[in-house]
Amino acid sequence: MIRVTIATPPRPYEALIENGLLASAGQKLRELSGGRESAFVVTVPPVQRVWGKKLLASLAAAGFRANLLAMPDGEPNKKLATVEKLAEQLARLGAARDALFIAFGGGVAGDVTGLLASLYMRGVDVVQIPTTVLAQVDASIGGKTGVNLRSGKNLLGTFHQPLTVLIDPTVLSTLPEREFQAGMYEALKCGVIGRPELFEKMARLDVKALRREPTELEWIIAEAVRFKAGIVSADERESGLRRVLNFGHTIGHALEAESGYRRFLHGEAVAWGMIAEASIAVASGRCSEDTADRITNAVLAVGPLPKVNAHPRDVVRLLQSDKKVKSGLVHFVLPRKIGEVEIVNDVPEKVVIDAVRQLRRISR
Ligand code: NAD
Repeated sequence: MIRVTIATPPRPYEALIENGLLASAGQKLRELSGGRESAFVVTVPPVQRVWGKKLLASLAAAGFRANLLAMPDGEPNKKLATVEKLAEQLARLGAARDALFIAFGGGVAGDVTGLLASLYMRGVDVVQIPTTVLAQVDASIGGKTGVNLRSGKNLLGTFHQPLTVLIDPTVLSTLPEREFQAGMYEALKCGVIGRPELFEKMARLDVKALRREPTELEWIIAEAVRFKAGIVSADERESGLRRVLNFGHTIGHALEAESGYRRFLHGEAVAWGMIAEASIAVASGRCSEDTADRITNAVLAVGPLPKVNAHPRDVVRLLQSDKKVKSGLVHFVLPRKIGEVEIVNDVPEKVVIDAVRQLRRISR
């Protein structure tokens, strides 16, 4: 088993990563949570259908009285009304302050359950059992919880660190291919920002085939978790260091917004963002063409991406309204080389326009 420590206040906790870990989740939680009796699993129907029984059996074998609550699936249900409905159900089921909440699903279930746990009776313990690549390498680590408002994504939220994060890469076997690939771009992103070995391995492997290579998959997930854990341990509240995680996101967010959040999965938009930002880094003299080519090739090798149709000027306009604009400046995280990035705010509009044109060319 791979153990990664996340050293955030109020106390450090561990992410445990192991193929097959779901079967012993109950036992692990028993070791961690002492004599507690009640566990409340919050999940979504697609995860419940394939993995629900296994988790419940494991919890029962470890002596937990477990209830399973299914919230509706999908980003549109990441809203306060879902939190309220779950809280009502929990109250009816008699959940008390010493209950253990278990977030079992992708980033949506994780963010909703995390927020619910931070609010219910002013805070109960939560465990994250992430079941998408994105949630395993990113959303479950670092204690950010949240829901969307009509006015914008993740506008309501808290920091509520889990008791532990249990990561079983074998649950990814049932994830739709497109979701799997979208999460893999996030892992690749970690490699570019600060984990050159991870990048090299992913650039070498056939990422699409990784689900048939459990040992390699486990290693990749663990490396990305180590990377994210290192960042959030040094910067729990996203004051500065966490911003490097936004590599690919400045352009990525603009592409998502331009297409009304319908064309791209988040990871796919970030994938295009990484390609664009690598070429911006070259154009502004910050990295070599060879490095940018390697990033582009590694991204494109992961799998097919939806086409970029956005007009470059629309992207620039959207960048101006992005929340990462501080004091009127658009911030970019640009690679210097594989494993090293810098945050800049002096990229000329023309360079951005050229980078988006390049995405449109590659898309054809
Ligand atoms: P998601 O939770 O919507 O999951 C994607 C789809 O996969 C869903 O339909 C889900 O039911 C299904 N699914 C999940 N696991 C499965 C499995 N093992 N087998 C079959 N189907 C499965 O999406 P996501 O990409 O995991 O998460 C996106 C969310 O994460 C966004 O809301 C984003 O804001 C959030 N996020 C949070 C953080 C954070 O730090 N808290 C970081 C990054 C992203």
